Amino acid sequence: MTVSIWQQAHQEQETAYDVVVVGGGIVGCSTAYWLGQRAPSLDVALLEARTLGAEASGRNAGFVLQGTHADYRTDMEQYGEQTARRLWQFTRKNRDLLAAELHRTAFSWRADGSLVAAGTETEDKRLRASLPPLRTAGAPAVHLDAEETNARIGAAGFHGGLFVTTGAAVNPLHLVQHVAAESGADVHTQHPVDHVRWRGTGAVLETPDRHFRAPRVVFALGPALPALVPEASPYVRSVRAQMLATTPANSVRIPVPVYSHRGGFYVRQRDDRRLLVGGGRHSHREAEETSTDATTPAVQATIERYLHTHFPWSQSLAVEHRWSGTMGFSPDGRPVVGRVPGHPDGVFATGFTGHGMGYGFRMGRLLADMTCGDDAPEALDLFAAARFNDSVDKRSGTASN
Ligand SMILES: Cc1cc2nc3c(=O)[nH]c(=O)nc-3n(C[C@H](O)[C@H](O)[C@H](O)COP(=O)(O)OP(=O)(O)OC[C@H]3O[C@@H](n4cnc5c(N)ncnc54)[C@H](O)[C@@H]3O)c2cc1C
Repeated sequence: MTVSIWQQAHQEQETAYDVVVVGGGIVGCSTAYWLGQRAPSLDVALLEARTLGAEASGRNAGFVLQGTHADYRTDMEQYGEQTARRLWQFTRKNRDLLAAELHRTAFSWRADGSLVAAGTETEDKRLRASLPPLRTAGAPAVHLDAEETNARIGAAGFHGGLFVTTGAAVNPLHLVQHVAAESGADVHTQHPVDHVRWRGTGAVLETPDRHFRAPRVVFALGPALPALVPEASPYVRSVRAQMLATTPANSVRIPVPVYSHRGGFYVRQRDDRRLLVGGGRHSHREAEETSTDATTPAVQATIERYLHTHFPWSQSLAVEHRWSGTMGFSPDGRPVVGRVPGHPDGVFATGFTGHGMGYGFRMGRLLADMTCGDDAPEALDLFAAARFNDSVDKRSGTASN
C-alpha cells in the first residue's frame, strides 16, 4: 500500500503525552488506572492494537486466584518459602484491591471462594502438605476430603481439595473495559505500535495512523512484548490456551471456580448456568507452544473428556462455543518486570504464565510506581528480569500451567 503526502504529514505529526502505556489488556489498563490515581495531573495515553481485552485478558476464564499455577508446596520448593509467601501475598492484595477500588457489579464480581481439586491421590497429598505453610502465610484455606470435594461441586473422581475462601471470579472483558474507563487516560484502540524510536528522553511510538511522543513509556504487551522490546525475548514465550462453553445447565451445580490436575484443567459455572471449561494443554504441550489463535480438535476433545468424566451430568449439555487465546509464559513461571535495557524511561511486565488475572490489577500499580520513579521491592527482586541474568538455561521453563 502507498502513502500519500497528506497522509504522511498526518502520520508524522507527534501527539505528546506525559506517559504512553502500550497494550490494552488487564496489565496495561491497570497501569493507566493507577497512574491516574497516583498522579492525576499526568496526561496518559493507552495505545491498543485492536480493542481493549482483544487478547488473553478478554478471553480467559475470569478466575481471580491467589498464588501461582502450582500448589503452595511446589512453590516453596521451587522458589523458597519467603518468595512463595510473597507471591501469595501479592496476589491476595490484587484480589483485595479489585474488590475495594472498583465498581464490582460492572464486571460481575463473585467472591464465594475457589476450589483446587486434586485429580490424583498424589496431588491431594501435596495439597494437604501445602495447608500448614499456607495458613502461616495468612491464607484462609481448608482441606476437604474426597467426598466433600465432589459433593460441593457435583463432581466425581476428585481425591480431595483445598477450598480458599478468598477465591473470586469476574467477567474479564468487562473488568478490562471498566478499569480503562475509570483510568482517565486517553484510550486509542486500533492503534498498533509498529516501531519504537528511542530519544534522549523517552520515545516516539509509531502507529500507522500517527506518532505518539512521551518521556515515559510502559509496555504491557503480553507475549507480543519482544516485537517492541527485543531484549525481552529471553523472558517470554507464547503459549496457547483453549476453552469451551456449554449450553446452560438446569441448575447451579458448580458454585465456585474449580482448578484441578495441577492447573491442567479449570471449570466454572456462570450466572447464566453455562459451564466454562479450559485446559488440557499438558497432553498436547508441543502443539500449544504457539501464537496462533485457533482451537484444535485434539485439545477440545481432551477438555470434553475431562468435563464428562468429572461432571457426568454435563454430558447432556451441548458445546455452544469454543475459543483460544495466547499467553506469555516466563521461564520460571513468575511474572517478569523490568526497565528496557539502555532506556530506563521504558518499563515492561510480561510472563504471567496463565495467571494474569491473579496479578494484573496490583501489577498495574507496581508499573505506575516504577513509571513515577519508585521501584517497589517486588520490582527489584520478586519479579525482576535481572533474576535470569545468571541463569544457566533461560528457556528451561518448569511451569506446567
Ligand atoms: C483461555 C485462557 C484462559 C485463561 N484463564 C485465566 C484465568 O482464569 N485466570 C487468570 O488469572 N489468568 C487466566 N489466563 C491468563 C490471563 O488471561 C493472562 O495472563 C492475562 O490476560 C495477561 O494480561 P496482559 O495484559 O499481560 O496481556 P494481554 O491480555 O495479552 O494484553 C496485551 C495487549 O497488548 C496488545 N498489543 C500487542 N501488541 C501491540 C502493539 N504492537 N501495539 C499496541 N498494542 C499491542 C494486544 O492486542 C493485547 O490487547 C487465561 C488465558 C487464556 C488465553
